[in-house]
Amino acid sequence: MLYTKTKLNEEITLSVPLYNDEIYTQCPGCGAEHAVEPEILAHILNEGECFESASVYCEKCSKKETANEAATAIREIVEGLKLHISKIGEYDNETVKEALNEDLRQLQTLFR
Ligand SMILES: [Zn+2]
Repeated sequence: MLYTKTKLNEEITLSVPLYNDEIYTQCPGCGAEHAVEPEILAHILNEGECFESASVYCEKCSKKETANEAATAIREIVEGLKLHISKIGEYDNETVKEALNEDLRQLQTLFR
């Protein structure tokens, strides 16, 4: 059994057993208290991070975070597309076609 202990005063030391599904944190995004999945604890340990500085987003905020990352990736691909479309006529068709196909491949990897 793993447990944590804290000294309340000279006479009293509190020992609290740790259960896999009863380890909590506060979401750095919205501040909500939530349980941390054992897989996430394993990830923190594997990455060599320390528990004090670890931040774990709640489910709602991590979905938002994932959506933001996807939106950023799409924005970057659209910028690439704009650039490559503007090069039509400036470079030979094969070069432009290859650049546009690369944009398409990047876009397709987002939807796998
Ligand atoms: Zn949150």
